[in-house]
Amino acid sequence: MLVAIDVDSTLHDYWEQFSAAALRLHGVHLPYADQRAWRVDALTPEQVNEVVEATHADEAIESAIAYPGAAEAVQRWKAEGHEILITTHRRPEAHAVTARWLERQEIPFDGLRCGWKKVDHCSDVGVALLIDDAPENLEGALARGIAVATIRHPWNHDLLQQRPEITHGDDWHALASGLRPLLGWPTSP
Ligand SMILES: [Mg+2]
Repeated sequence: MLVAIDVDSTLHDYWEQFSAAALRLHGVHLPYADQRAWRVDALTPEQVNEVVEATHADEAIESAIAYPGAAEAVQRWKAEGHEILITTHRRPEAHAVTARWLERQEIPFDGLRCGWKKVDHCSDVGVALLIDDAPENLEGALARGIAVATIRHPWNHDLLQQRPEITHGDDWHALASGLRPLLGWPTSP
């Protein structure tokens, strides 16, 4: 099965970086629990772009730590014979540093795509499962018949209530366990 996996807020805690940059650059507090939509009303679109740019600088990308259990789950899926496409809306220039980060975090991948129109691309290349936190990506993939899963965050909580077919977990252990019917999970010796 071809499995596409997002990076920010899926493989690591992006909100911590985003909110720290918003505070540093614009003096705005953005508590995680209050972030009920993937929209930031306290910042102008230009300020949001500035904050995203800051979090996607090489040093910021390299300083992130993958969520516990993420690397282990992806390693096991790969060992089961699944193909892993890492797909992120980071700018194409972030490809090399993102690849280095994945390697350092021991997250194996067959392909890495940095760029927009993620769901269209997933559909074009035959992705069967997309793991992504953004409600618009989850809904877009579902509309194209792609199975979806996510780490639960305040901004996708409402969608998860409405769409019980979205596999989700509060952490990677719960998520991998929820995906077992779809992806399998080799039994430990
Ligand atoms: Mg994301």
